[in-house]
Amino acid sequence: MEINIICFFILFAFYVLGAYATTDILRLLKGSTTSVNAKDCYCPICGYRIPLYDQIPIFSYLKNKGKCRNCHSQIPFSDLFLEIFIFLGCSIITAACSFSWIGFGLSIAFYESTKLFYIIRKGAREDHFLSNLLKSLLNNLVWFVLLACLFLILKLVRFS
Ligand SMILES: [Zn+2]
Repeated sequence: MEINIICFFILFAFYVLGAYATTDILRLLKGSTTSVNAKDCYCPICGYRIPLYDQIPIFSYLKNKGKCRNCHSQIPFSDLFLEIFIFLGCSIITAACSFSWIGFGLSIAFYESTKLFYIIRKGAREDHFLSNLLKSLLNNLVWFVLLACLFLILKLVRFS
């Protein structure tokens, strides 16, 4: 029972990570001027600050039919795709590895290689790329340490 709850939290962490990827990864790409560390999310077309209740990963996009509440522009489908891709990719890898440390390591590798792939494919942002990349990697480190705590708790519960 406890094991299932912890596994659920790990999958939930991947769900949030998927949403986070749309700011972390997309802000490193060509054309972006928003700092990786900017807390708020903005409409990529009109710059409208997206309220918190519209930031629920995947569901908000579907609820608003992928349109900005302010300017009604279509938010690129690639945003939704990246959220789902990271969430499903990390979840499937981890579940396939029975929530072991190997699954944890492979999920990190999957996330960072997705980032690398996007940067190579779409090009790096023109201004302050290196400083934003550094911030991004530091943020990721915090993420992965928190995630490691969940895996550690799982391991402790499994062997108790
Ligand atoms: Zn807009």
